[in-house]
Amino acid sequence: MLIRGGTVVDVDGERAADVRTGPDGRIAEVGLALAAGQGEEVVDATSWLVVPGGVDVHTHLHLPLGAVAASDDFATGTAAAAVGGTTTLVEYVTAYRGERPLDALAAWSARAEPAAVDYGFHMTFTEAVGEGAVADCVERGVTSFKLYMAYPDTLQVGDDVIVAVLRAAARHGGLVTVHAENGWEIEALRRQALAEGRTGVVEHANTRPARLEAGAVSRVASMAERVGAAAYIVHVSSAPALAAVREAQERGVALMAETCPQYLHLDAGRLAGEDGEQFVCTPPLRDPWHGEELWHGLASGWVHTVATDHCPFTRVDRRRGVRGREGGWADFTEIPGGLPGIETRLALVYEGVRAGRITAGDWVRLCAEAPARTFGLWPAKGSLQVGADADVVLWDPERRQDLDAASLHMRTDHSPYEGTTATGWPSLVLCRGRVVARDGAFAGEAGWGRYVARQPVFR
Ligand SMILES: [Zn+2]
Repeated sequence: MLIRGGTVVDVDGERAADVRTGPDGRIAEVGLALAAGQGEEVVDATSWLVVPGGVDVHTHLHLPLGAVAASDDFATGTAAAAVGGTTTLVEYVTAYRGERPLDALAAWSARAEPAAVDYGFHMTFTEAVGEGAVADCVERGVTSFKLYMAYPDTLQVGDDVIVAVLRAAARHGGLVTVHAENGWEIEALRRQALAEGRTGVVEHANTRPARLEAGAVSRVASMAERVGAAAYIVHVSSAPALAAVREAQERGVALMAETCPQYLHLDAGRLAGEDGEQFVCTPPLRDPWHGEELWHGLASGWVHTVATDHCPFTRVDRRRGVRGREGGWADFTEIPGGLPGIETRLALVYEGVRAGRITAGDWVRLCAEAPARTFGLWPAKGSLQVGADADVVLWDPERRQDLDAASLHMRTDHSPYEGTTATGWPSLVLCRGRVVARDGAFAGEAGWGRYVARQPVFR
């Protein structure tokens, strides 16, 4: 295919260029005024941006939560990803307590078979593991790990485990990603709220204050510094947490940070509204000024990536809660947390380009290049250089897309952006040269997506 007349934006900057994809599913040529070959499909990209396929490094396409479960799976979630311009995702596998990590990985691999776009896996440990567990994962291309500092009942690990996994990962070139919130203090605040009869949705945010996020970020930073390892904070949601990230970076700690569109566009006021339960996610939505600071962090480079933490629930499941009560959840601690986002990430970050908060180059860096580099997918992913996978998004900066659930493809009946319209949406999306979405509709096939074994980057 020859993509002609567009404006290419990638690591080499923003310029007019044609892009040719080859029969091997890779970028064959990038240059000016390329001539069409015999029988070659020519796409006119005049007035469109031509950018690398999006790389979403934080998804939950399989996530059981008590009596309910996240509502997308690898078939529906990757189709939605394709429509929105994401052609690679990295899903969090969880090895629950007592479960062997490689068994968890095998189970997730089987679930991922219907994927329509490419995918990799991170491994979540929920208890102490030996260095062998880390080595086994790296050998299989699972080069990043996740540890929770929250949810003591199910997922949280102690600082001893964090230090041990940081050390093991560093020896194998892997990267540890961390959910940074002080789980024990949050538990105390939740118990206190319930004891005082404060059970409503807003207590979800009140019991997870930003300072408990910032404190956990600082703790990770000092552990990484002492061990001499890199670390990556997932879903940074608040200004104090961002300040802690920045402080660590400025003293030379290899600390990276991710944020998500919901923390840029939505605020805690939503929790008090009629549909408040639909906006429960963790960390919680914050007051609007935190979002302003996060945009500034994206433009300044303190925040490296934008991923989604995609984890949707249906209205029925949200109402029933994690205990599956027919009459609905009894208090805020039973509301399943997580938001849909895999389809809308590129558009929501592009809003920042339109508003002049970030450049188009920043947008590509945050949504494709940096996640690919950080997680060992570069240069096959996140790049339009010759030889890279032909994961290409033809982005129409003027195309308008309603962001209500009925107009989108994620398997959920509520969109956090209900009633709003984005300007800027993919017209055509390629994954390894194959069209996977066209004009806002899925055009790929289940099973086209391939597992990508990722490289250990942090040797
Ligand atoms: Zn997550």
